[in-house]
Amino acid sequence: MDERRDTPPPPETRRPAALATGLGQLSPVQQAYADYVEHAHRCDDCRDIDSRCMAGDGLWRAYRERTDGAYRQLADESS
Ligand SMILES: [Zn+2]
Repeated sequence: MDERRDTPPPPETRRPAALATGLGQLSPVQQAYADYVEHAHRCDDCRDIDSRCMAGDGLWRAYRERTDGAYRQLADESS
């Protein structure tokens, strides 16, 4: 939808770290998930849906923390 504004929005002064991507790069959230998936495909423990090794658990927690951080950023920016 194309709504006219009386004043243009302020220029973006900073890019949110958790959401920023460069051209051809994964966002930090996507990269964390890719790291977890790459590990899980190669790890016998993590391939089983009911178990996870310590390394896989750490990668999963890192992904969840980045996801939570990204959601917090979006919530802060929209309030
Ligand atoms: Zn594993």
